[in-house]
Amino acid sequence: MGLPFDENSSFMRGPADAPPVIKAEVFSAAHNLWSEAGLDLTDRFHDVGSVSVGEGEDMFTSVESAVAALLEKNYRPILLGGDHAVTVPIIRAFAREYSKLSVLHFDAHPDLYDDFEGNRYSHACPFSRILEEGLIQRLVQVGIRAFTEPQREQAARFNVEVMEMKDWDDERVFKFDGPVYISFDVDGLDPACAPGVSHREPGGFTTRQALRVIQSLGGQLVGADIVEYNPHRDFQNMTAVVCAKLCKELAARMLMDH
Ligand code: MN
Ligand code: MN
Repeated sequence: MGLPFDENSSFMRGPADAPPVIKAEVFSAAHNLWSEAGLDLTDRFHDVGSVSVGEGEDMFTSVESAVAALLEKNYRPILLGGDHAVTVPIIRAFAREYSKLSVLHFDAHPDLYDDFEGNRYSHACPFSRILEEGLIQRLVQVGIRAFTEPQREQAARFNVEVMEMKDWDDERVFKFDGPVYISFDVDGLDPACAPGVSHREPGGFTTRQALRVIQSLGGQLVGADIVEYNPHRDFQNMTAVVCAKLCKELAARMLMDH
């Protein structure tokens, strides 16, 4: 499902135009729909379109109710942003369904500002909102390489498990008790792998490193988002293809639990 909303971007608009570009690559004749583990994903994706997100605060109610409706139908949703602010209403909907939800968050940035330039719903703040509302039991962040002091304080305050990129260990496997949701900000990847983002931060994951984390994940993967892809910053859809690859491997990982 597409979430075409980027009003809470602090630097550059564009992610609102991402969902159809990513979907076109998922279903493109240039690729097949088999996962790397050998699962045939043909007919396993249901494109339910994009949410009419409205403007301003309307986005929060429209996204929450649209995601809740998918969960009621027993879908395992992959949500395509949109800027990272969309993850707040997504997790509100998931928290109603799953009382002990964990989140694995890929990002160059911890997105833990209490407010950013006066906006508490900025795409630099979503995990402060999610944690102060008590929506999840555990937050693990990976790929982080643009930490700031105010965000370190927030991370300590909310017991966030931050795996900074400078300390990355390729052998690490992430295990979660109970349901886990992946929030994947595309700028968690190195800009060499994913240039189509508003905030290019060097020194990030290769596509392969990120795929390995997803494929080796322990726990029940119940949903995911792919956010912050900015098609206006991309080159020949290179980053859209990466997002499509993530879509397929996330879907395959979800289906492995059934
Ligand atoms: Mn980011
Ligand atoms: Mn982010």
